[in-house]
Amino acid sequence: MSPSRPRVVIIGGNFAGLVAASRLPCDYDVTVVDARADFEWTPNIHEILSGVKDREGVVLPRAECVSRYGHTFVHDAVTKIDRDNSSVMTEGGLVLPYDACLVAAGSQRTTFGVDGADKHALGFRLVDDAVRIAGRLDKLAARQRRASVVIVGGGVSGIEALGEILRRRGQGDEFNIHVVELESRILDQLPQGLASDALQRFAPYPVTLHTNAAVTQVDGRSVTLGSGEKLTADLCIWSAGMTLPDFLRDAGLNDTGDDWLPVEDTLRSRYADNIFVAGDCADLPTPVRKQAYYAMDMGEVAGDNISRLFRDRRQRRFRAAAMPMVISFGDITTWLVAGESVVASPLLAAAKEGVYQVTMARLASPKEPLRYSTDVVGRAAMATRQLLLPQLTPSKLFLGLTGSRIIV
Ligand SMILES: Cc1cc2nc3c(=O)[nH]c(=O)nc-3n(C[C@H](O)[C@H](O)[C@H](O)COP(=O)(O)OP(=O)(O)OC[C@H]3O[C@@H](n4cnc5c(N)ncnc54)[C@H](O)[C@@H]3O)c2cc1C
Repeated sequence: MSPSRPRVVIIGGNFAGLVAASRLPCDYDVTVVDARADFEWTPNIHEILSGVKDREGVVLPRAECVSRYGHTFVHDAVTKIDRDNSSVMTEGGLVLPYDACLVAAGSQRTTFGVDGADKHALGFRLVDDAVRIAGRLDKLAARQRRASVVIVGGGVSGIEALGEILRRRGQGDEFNIHVVELESRILDQLPQGLASDALQRFAPYPVTLHTNAAVTQVDGRSVTLGSGEKLTADLCIWSAGMTLPDFLRDAGLNDTGDDWLPVEDTLRSRYADNIFVAGDCADLPTPVRKQAYYAMDMGEVAGDNISRLFRDRRQRRFRAAAMPMVISFGDITTWLVAGESVVASPLLAAAKEGVYQVTMARLASPKEPLRYSTDVVGRAAMATRQLLLPQLTPSKLFLGLTGSRIIV
């Protein structure tokens, strides 16, 4: 295939989509479509709950990034992929023809049809979700009575949210917190030692854990569990469940409606030769955890393979590199999980911040080395101020060093 100016449409311009766009040459006609204006660094949104970060700290203006790559950004929601006519349709009425399309639309939250959950529980997936939750926590903290917060989901994001709510005790905000988990333990996809350590870390605080517990109803004041127990909920945070975005359900890119989209190891759709899929919405031959770093690596391979398609070159295979996972728990600790090994140290927070700052700078200006280096220096200074310096008071440094432990 060698169109004179190949047209590429990228649906979703976050981790996978933005990295893919950065790999495509400016002489292609590349359009990135996203329903939201800003790139969002989801892995750090929990820090908004405690005020360590604000909205501006975790977003980048998407239009600026995309235009720096030499491409076009369209701020609109895609409603349909018309495979017969090789075009993408948007809510705003645009029809965008493509020679190759990349689907990088991530996932959306699901409340599994639990009665009242969509209306009364606040989702925890987007930057604006975190801002909304932080606002509610501020209001609840100002009350006389100690408020009750229910977190639904004891996976990584639920536990990170818990850590940030506990971090607020430093500013005098105390809450009674319930964590509700469907499985028999929290962090059930990760080593048992990590879960045990987390339990010990939150034991001194007013946190009640409910495992093997399904939420059956949420209303404005309470959360009801399958056992019939009713938990007082001045605020319910929904941090469980993700599914395929609605517009992809009938795109003909999977076997049944809500499956993730199956791809070859080249990230090409198993259902369409000129459609690639990268990031959370892809169903790989060898599945990987739905994480930002894998989404970015997939974006890189998908971007390169789209170029290779137009140049009749052999497709690259996506191979997931084993990546350690860093999970923060407010100002209490940070865990590094590599396979079955877990290390805990408050000082790892600075390492996580470093990765975040460097990657944000790279996404903002990948093709301008000078601007990139200046941005990294500015971001490093900010990270040092926000996270490293508070750890370096003599007592915290002592605690930080002695608090560093190999768990399993
Ligand atoms: C609270 C939380 C904490 C997390 N923590 C970590 C962590 O610590 N480390 C880690 O590696 N990962 C973490 N993750 C997972 C990580 O955020 C995802 O794996 C990553 O965002 C996936 O990237 P993506 O590009 O596939 O999708 P997304 O980042 O979800 O991007 C999809 C994009 O598609 C756009 N889009 C969707 N539908 C449409 C449409 N119809 N039209 C136009 N645009 C559309 C969206 O607006 C969005 O910009 C976390 C996730 C959450 C929710």
